[in-house]
Amino acid sequence: MTALYPWLTPTYTQIAQTFSEGLGHHAVLIKSDAGLGVEHLFEMLSRRIMCFTPQDIAPCGQCHACHLMQAHSHPDYHELSPIEGKDIGVDQVREINEIVAQHAQQNGNKVVYVKGAERLTEAAANALLKTLEEPRPNTYFLLQADSAASLLATIYSRCQVWHLSSPPTEMSQAWLQTQCEEEKQEMATALSMGFGRPLFALEILQQGLIEQRKDFLRQFWRFYRRRSPLELLPLFDKVHYLRQLDWILAFLADSLKHKLHISAHRQVTDLVRGVEQFSDEQTALGLLQAIQIMQKVRSDLHSINGVNVELILLDGLTKLITEVFEK
Ligand SMILES: [Zn+2]
Repeated sequence: MTALYPWLTPTYTQIAQTFSEGLGHHAVLIKSDAGLGVEHLFEMLSRRIMCFTPQDIAPCGQCHACHLMQAHSHPDYHELSPIEGKDIGVDQVREINEIVAQHAQQNGNKVVYVKGAERLTEAAANALLKTLEEPRPNTYFLLQADSAASLLATIYSRCQVWHLSSPPTEMSQAWLQTQCEEEKQEMATALSMGFGRPLFALEILQQGLIEQRKDFLRQFWRFYRRRSPLELLPLFDKVHYLRQLDWILAFLADSLKHKLHISAHRQVTDLVRGVEQFSDEQTALGLLQAIQIMQKVRSDLHSINGVNVELILLDGLTKLITEVFEK
């Protein structure tokens, strides 16, 4: 059913089961992280709910509703999502509310997929809440939200809530082997870089980011040895500098973990010796400070628009030298 991404199957099966038993909830909220392909889970659930003649938990794939869903042209299937990066506004919700108040065009079920529910403005959330509080027959809301996001508690309380988390490493490894030809060791590194999320890991492998990170962290090491921020500065990418900051942060976090003898969730598994050597030359307090400095740089660059990126980076790197390395 969800063979595309095997880790979705348990959640799909449990939710689809409730519909097979006639107990499908009118508002299903699934919280999940990016990199797990949760969109596919919503697509399959929508198909199952729309199907006129489902085969237990699976849509039949043959009926008119299934054909319309496959062609992405079912008139009773609607999506509510941020448009052009903007939050989901109250007008969008009102429009959906009006549509679902009408009779289903295909005389079957209606589905509204709310993508990025944490992006509802307060007014939009309240408008949606009204609809969720008065369930209509044959009308189902499927809501997706980031696992770290906070939603209006009242919306939360109206939903049946599910959590989708990263699959076990063996399952991710097995799936990656069907997608690419890299060595097992590379896959393990990509998975730890991608927080255990298989789609992130695949992207990392396909874009050659393991090698890029290795090269960049070697340059970071040179900078550390030679105390030369002006040598490292030009190596920051014009577009992906936040990614490179994350690499430095991962290196620092692993160094701190080494210092504190914590072995879980290491990210820089391909440069273990470098991490250990660096860690041995620092104090735990120094490493903590280094992490704070780089986190500040990251959040400054992330939140402020139109700033001089290079200046902020240079300032951060200089602080690493004066406040950590030379203390
Ligand atoms: Zn069908």
